Amino acid sequence: MGNDGGSIPTRRELVKSSKSERTSSELFEQNLLNATFIWSTCPLSKRQLELPVVSDYLGHLYNKDAILEWLISPENFGDGEAIVPHIKSLKDIVELKITKDENSGKWICSITGKELKAGGSKFQYLPECGHVFAESAFREIDTDNCLECGSTYSKDNIVTINPTTKTDADANKARYERLINEGLTHSLKSASSKKKRKNGEDLNDKKTKKKSKAGELIHNEETLRMTKKVLDSVQQDMNRRKRSEAVQDLYLKA
Ligand SMILES: [Zn+2]
Repeated sequence: MGNDGGSIPTRRELVKSSKSERTSSELFEQNLLNATFIWSTCPLSKRQLELPVVSDYLGHLYNKDAILEWLISPENFGDGEAIVPHIKSLKDIVELKITKDENSGKWICSITGKELKAGGSKFQYLPECGHVFAESAFREIDTDNCLECGSTYSKDNIVTINPTTKTDADANKARYERLINEGLTHSLKSASSKKKRKNGEDLNDKKTKKKSKAGELIHNEETLRMTKKVLDSVQQDMNRRKRSEAVQDLYLKA
């Protein structure tokens, strides 16, 4: 574009050049500011992001305690309905398992050592187990098992954290729409309450097993009678708590 010593640039060329440079540097700064905010701050509580951190289907990050408070007492958040209208229960979030560098305390990918930060590498997580990796780790090691815990995952379910391109953002949304059509939630749990009742039964089985195991260990009959009494009252407490949890769930779903 001229200015090579052999020709004089026209005014139009100079204006065009300085304008586009300014625009791109402004855009860069603005993007960096936005990125710094979403990588460091919980948009719900406006506090610094600290583990444990959870993510929604969009790939956004929140402090887990803020989300729990939002689910129990939404009235505590003035702008909560505008920020997380899609988070109605724990099924709508996944708790992330992020590796912390022992020395620096920074969040890193345990495979590549890359740091999770604004303007850094693309990071993704597996909703099946919550483990977080740099995208390059997935590319370098082609496997259907989590590189950290070994649990199987589906490539269709990988979620990009704080996507910076429309393609990645759209992929997160498309995945969510597919799950809804399949009757599932972001955390891959059933959207219906039928499954929950089934889980409740499983829980009861575990409790019974625990109780009989405790009984086996106690030889003295008197101690056994007393222990049974305590266990019964614990069981009653658990039932009460389960009932109140069920009520709370109903409340959360409403
Ligand atoms: Zn894992």
